[in-house]
Amino acid sequence: MVKYTPMIEQYLGVKEQAQDAFLFFRLGDFYEMFFDDAVLASKELEITLTGREGGGGDKIPMCGVPYHSAEGYIQRLIEKGYKVAICEQMEDPSATKGMVHREIVRVVTPGTIMEGKAVRDKANNYMLCITTHGGLMALAACDLSTGELYVTSMTYSEEWLRDEIGIYEPSEMIGDHALLELVSSPSMPLSRPVLYTGWERRQDDLVSAQFGDAAWARLDEERQKCVSLLIAYLSETQKRRLGQLTRISSYEPGQFMVLDPFTRRNLELVETVRERSKKGSLLWLLDQTETSMGSRLLRRWIDKPLLSRGRIEDRLEAVGQLYHQYILREDLRTALKDIYDLERLVGRIAFGSANGRDLNALKQSLRQIPSLKELCAASGSNTLQKLSESMDVCADLCKLIEDAVSEDPPVSVRDGGIIKTGYHERLDELREASTSGKQWIAELEARERAETGIKSLKIGYNKVFGYYIEITKSNLSALQEGRYERKQTLANAERFVTPELKEKEGLILEAQDKMVDLEYALFSELRDQLNAQITRLQKLAEHIAEMDVYQSFAAVSAEHRFVKPDLHDGYDVSIDAGRHPVVEAVMHESSFISNGSELKKDEASILLITGPNMAGKSTYMRQVALFSIMAQIGCFVPADKAALPLVDRIFTRIGAADDLIGGQSTFMVEMADIQLMTEKATPKSLIIIDELGRGTSTSEGMAIAQAVIEYVHDVIGCKALVSTHFHELAHLSESLHGLVNYSMAVQESGDKVHFLRKLIPGAADSSYGIYCARLAGLPGSIIERAYGLLQDLEKASLTAVTKDAGAVQVAAAYEEQSEAEQTPAAAAESEVASSSSSRVVQMSMFGEEE
Ligand code: ADP
Repeated sequence: MVKYTPMIEQYLGVKEQAQDAFLFFRLGDFYEMFFDDAVLASKELEITLTGREGGGGDKIPMCGVPYHSAEGYIQRLIEKGYKVAICEQMEDPSATKGMVHREIVRVVTPGTIMEGKAVRDKANNYMLCITTHGGLMALAACDLSTGELYVTSMTYSEEWLRDEIGIYEPSEMIGDHALLELVSSPSMPLSRPVLYTGWERRQDDLVSAQFGDAAWARLDEERQKCVSLLIAYLSETQKRRLGQLTRISSYEPGQFMVLDPFTRRNLELVETVRERSKKGSLLWLLDQTETSMGSRLLRRWIDKPLLSRGRIEDRLEAVGQLYHQYILREDLRTALKDIYDLERLVGRIAFGSANGRDLNALKQSLRQIPSLKELCAASGSNTLQKLSESMDVCADLCKLIEDAVSEDPPVSVRDGGIIKTGYHERLDELREASTSGKQWIAELEARERAETGIKSLKIGYNKVFGYYIEITKSNLSALQEGRYERKQTLANAERFVTPELKEKEGLILEAQDKMVDLEYALFSELRDQLNAQITRLQKLAEHIAEMDVYQSFAAVSAEHRFVKPDLHDGYDVSIDAGRHPVVEAVMHESSFISNGSELKKDEASILLITGPNMAGKSTYMRQVALFSIMAQIGCFVPADKAALPLVDRIFTRIGAADDLIGGQSTFMVEMADIQLMTEKATPKSLIIIDELGRGTSTSEGMAIAQAVIEYVHDVIGCKALVSTHFHELAHLSESLHGLVNYSMAVQESGDKVHFLRKLIPGAADSSYGIYCARLAGLPGSIIERAYGLLQDLEKASLTAVTKDAGAVQVAAAYEEQSEAEQTPAAAAESEVASSSSSRVVQMSMFGEEE
């Protein structure tokens, strides 16, 4: 047994309690780490590794960071997915004999961090707890920085769990070991590293105490268990009451449209597929919110489109009113601009980390509320009026801060300067004592200068010696012997004191000490008072966020000429001149070609779309899916007119480039998605399949594609948009009454190909592949041979391709297009194609850059 020093023994005792975390062990002005923690931390933080005698012969590895700059180091470790346990000195070392008592005061983890980069303004930072209970799964999600807590559950379903986790994008997960193992497998497409901790301890009493017995009793057993585990973990790590968690929002999975992670990615709802950036996503387009709360709420709405027509109509009603009232919208935006992140301010108040500036930010925000309330009341919108009515302007809280907190308080809450004069009598007295003391010293300086005749005599102050009279060496001779007491000798000056000066110094310093202590006490009291009103502030924050999203929807809809969708409980989709909102927004002004969509029960539930690459097929199909999402979150849609049914779920199977997750082949991924679709789709779902059957051999691919389409048609009966390069599948329209052929029109003249981006009835001509090969400059002999083989294959084929019909349609669409104004993009494209080998590549680059 190694015999360590008492300090190291104490360290080891504390480290026992935080084995999975870095232990920041407070020693005076530093947090020190020892042993393996030190070795790893020195690498991760790039700080020097040293050693320390700790008994037992060898030096103990050690490294440390100054306590006042620890925040940054902690954040860096958290970003790397570690936990940090902070161990403080619980007694004043100067007043303690022997070892100072030390305790862990908080464990910071990725899911519980309150400040820094991990807590991005416009995004949530969730920690999840996932559990099983008697054949059910439950999931609780908590953002400690905003005070949100959600819980839901359903019968055991790995897909469901995957969908929910994909939506929350947690930074940390706890709960059932087996479930954590399941979801931590590489096939879960999570966008950031997640810290997993198996966790089994519940704290039911704590939950009922925190949220009230009634709230606890309302939860089903599996949800109780899940929340209880989560709260136990939070309390274990944070070691304080988490006052910002005031409400458990329990929801049913069936309330929202189901979007699996692949569909969310494919449709680029919150980030793009390629760069994984917000820019270029639907969220990016729709986000003209002014507050961080609004931005986060918008994201939550996009994550969970509604299924209740009533609730959607309420949202659309508010957006509609704001859409038509530009000035009102601008006024709202102006008021919202000055509102800070209330949710996070409130979070910091509850957590005890808010400073004077935070309270002033809260005050500043609260000052905007009366005008917001008025604007909403006068908006003519029912939804906004209701919001306005239930809006508590919290004027008392605003006044509380106004009266107490000075206009420009320092960052630190321990150094004074926070509380206004006039707020507290005793504080004013102390301030007066301190100021008059300082005044007295200034007068003394003037008097002594006059009496000694030494003009450069000055009175200074430092922390070690207190106040002193300083006289330069050259003037010493002018000083009357014995006038002052000598205190300190410098190179070119002497410093003195007098008993009178010492006495005043005592008074000033005492007043200052007392002042700082009293200010801190008053500030804490104020923070507690606000803390007691947190529920009101949180409610207010929710209302503001909602208002902000409405104005954002209205602003975007007006700017991009969206229209209010007509939602109905039927089946059919009818869109006049629809556009893809994001592709259009990033293209040059008005060069996007609109296309209608008609999906009808029994007659046209499946659109089979053919056409060459780059013709615009996948853009078109995504556009239709986005209409449902936009409408069901309560936003207007990019069309001249749109009548839309409520869609319960969207499945997409798009693209092949980004499917190689977890080493699965493209084809296997495609088949797994299709399997899920066959199992879960209902007649109210919408299916989008791009390039069905591309991952395997032609005949097999075609066979599977046909079988899948038949299944969707005959068994599921939902709406579907399917694109394929197997133009031979066009014959399906003869056997499936609900399937209609469409193609993307392409116009060719001589060496030029012109994408019209127009959806036209009928299947596409088959020969574009070979045509493209020719454009790419393949030798003539290959092209001829290919045409010959194609003819043979077509003759052998069982199906008759509606080639001529397609060609006629192309021509017709082209005429229509030329009659209308020729768009810049179309005009530019006609110039792109000619016959050198790089031409096809150029075409596709051109298409993407638009
Ligand atoms: P496909 O799926 O047929 O290969 P895409 O849908 O990927 O084609 O479209 C190719 C490019 O054409 C897109 O990147 C976009 O820039 C452009 N595009 C697509 N649809 C339209 C449209 N309706 N109007 C204008 N440009 C479009």
